[in-house]
Amino acid sequence: MPWFKGNLHTHTSLSDGDSPPGVVARWYDDAGYDFLCISDHNVRFDPVFLQSELLDEGRRLHLIPGEELTSWWQDDERTYALHVNGYGTSSSLGDVGGESVPGVLQGLVDRIVENGGMASVNHPNFWSSVGWKDLAALRQLQFFEVYNGHPLSYNDGTDDLPSMDTVWDLLLLQGQRVFGLAVDDAHYFQEWGTEFSNPGRGWVVVEAEEKTSAALTASLAAGRFYASNGPELSQIEVRSGESLRIVTYGASLIEFIADGEVVERVEGEIGFCRLRSASSLRARVVDPSGTAWVQPLVAM
Ligand SMILES: [Zn+2]
Ligand SMILES: [Zn+2]
Repeated sequence: MPWFKGNLHTHTSLSDGDSPPGVVARWYDDAGYDFLCISDHNVRFDPVFLQSELLDEGRRLHLIPGEELTSWWQDDERTYALHVNGYGTSSSLGDVGGESVPGVLQGLVDRIVENGGMASVNHPNFWSSVGWKDLAALRQLQFFEVYNGHPLSYNDGTDDLPSMDTVWDLLLLQGQRVFGLAVDDAHYFQEWGTEFSNPGRGWVVVEAEEKTSAALTASLAAGRFYASNGPELSQIEVRSGESLRIVTYGASLIEFIADGEVVERVEGEIGFCRLRSASSLRARVVDPSGTAWVQPLVAM
C-alpha cells in the first residue's frame, strides 16, 4: 500500500492565518505534500472549488475538509484555550461551551463525532490548558497532538507540565487509546522565523489504499500512520498484532516503549520488539533531523 505525507492542522486568512487558502495549499503542494487539512478557527473550509483549481493546474495535493473548533474555559484565575480539530466533518461546527475544561472538550469532541468526523485535542500545553487527566476522561477521542509546530505549544513540557510523550504514556496506561499526530499549526506563510508558526515542521505519513479523504481518514482511524518532525521511515510492520518491526533510512536511535517504559533501544536501521505482557507498545525514532512517533499497539 502506498504512503502519503500530509499536514492536518493549518490556518489561512479565513481565520488568523496570513494567506488565503489557495496560497497555503500551493505551498504544501510545492513542498511535496500529498494531502492537507485547512483547519481554521470555527470555520470549516469546503475544499471543492480549490480542489478543482489545483487539479486544473496539474497539482496533486488532496484537501481533507476540517475545522479547528475553538473554545475556552475561564475559572477565577485564568483562561484555558480549548481547541479540538475535527477531520472529515461535513458542516461548520464552531464553539459549544460547557461547565469545565473536560466538559467543554467533551462537548467539542461529541459535536465532531455526531457530524461524522474524527476528533483530535490540539496542543494541550498551549496556555497550560489541558492536563493529561482531562484527556484521560474524554470519550470518543481518537487523536491528540504529540507534536505541534507552533512556538507556544511546549511539546517537550515545562517545569510544571509533562512532555507530550509522557502524556501519551499516561493516557495509554489509563486505557485511553489515542493516536499521536504531528502537525504544523501554521499561520505564517509570508514571514519566517522561529518566533512564527511556519509550515513544514510536523506531519503525518499515512499508509492508505488511495489518496481520498475516505481512505486517508480510515487509515488514520486505524493508526496506520506515523507522525514526524524530521525522520522518514521505510517500513512499519505489525505482526499478528503482537510485535512491531521498524526500518528507517539511515542510522537512527529506535526506542520501544511498553507501558511507559523504554524496554528496547536500538542504534541502527532496524528495530524489533514484542508486546509480550505489556498493555501497549509504541516506538520513537530519533535522528539529527528530529523525532518520528510510531502509533501504539494495544493488547486485545
Ligand atoms: Zn489551536
Ligand atoms: Zn490552530
